[in-house]
Amino acid sequence: MEKYIPQEIEKKWQEIWRQEHRDGCKNEDARPPYYVLEMFPYPSGNLHMGHVRNYTIGDVMARYRRMKGFNVLHPMGYDAFGMPAENAAIKHNIPPAEWTYKNIENMTRQQRELGLSYDWDREVATCHKEYYKWTQWIFELFYKRGLAYRKEAKVNWCEHCNTVLANEQVIDGTCWRCDQPVVKKDLKQWFFKITDYADRLLDDLKLLPGWPERVKT
Ligand SMILES: [Zn+2]
Repeated sequence: MEKYIPQEIEKKWQEIWRQEHRDGCKNEDARPPYYVLEMFPYPSGNLHMGHVRNYTIGDVMARYRRMKGFNVLHPMGYDAFGMPAENAAIKHNIPPAEWTYKNIENMTRQQRELGLSYDWDREVATCHKEYYKWTQWIFELFYKRGLAYRKEAKVNWCEHCNTVLANEQVIDGTCWRCDQPVVKKDLKQWFFKITDYADRLLDDLKLLPGWPERVKT
């Protein structure tokens, strides 16, 4: 009986797809465009089965549309900034950049092995200078227009870890990492003035036909 050995057969075809740029997407193309975008994962180290499920569904859509004659843009990237990187760096005692890039490399390898049909030429990571210069650019616009401001506000704080904790990281009043009690601390923080747009947001809900009522609520 012939055996299916994924490490052999899949590797072979993935290499051929890569050489032929099967998953690439050109900006100029006569075919109708179609955009498939899944959530960019946080590079925590390894893909878990939740990732595999989510990305398989997106990949099925992308492949289906390609076969139906669409020019499919199916990119991938990494949501690589934030508190998890800070916490992991403290935990493993290594610089956050080192930890983050190592994880991106490993997760990219796993995604390639799964054969997910991404246009890897368009890969982004929010920790790349080429990416976050745009975050800084838009933040500056907000700031100059009075829509970003600083003020004191209470945060969850762990004295032992010396970090802020998200609400989900406080378990029964203690820190999820070290089990020490969490305190409320006044810290100067940045805020976006979203309330300026609250009425407009509410008014414009009527411009969204077909949205489920529970989502609008
Ligand atoms: Zn702690």
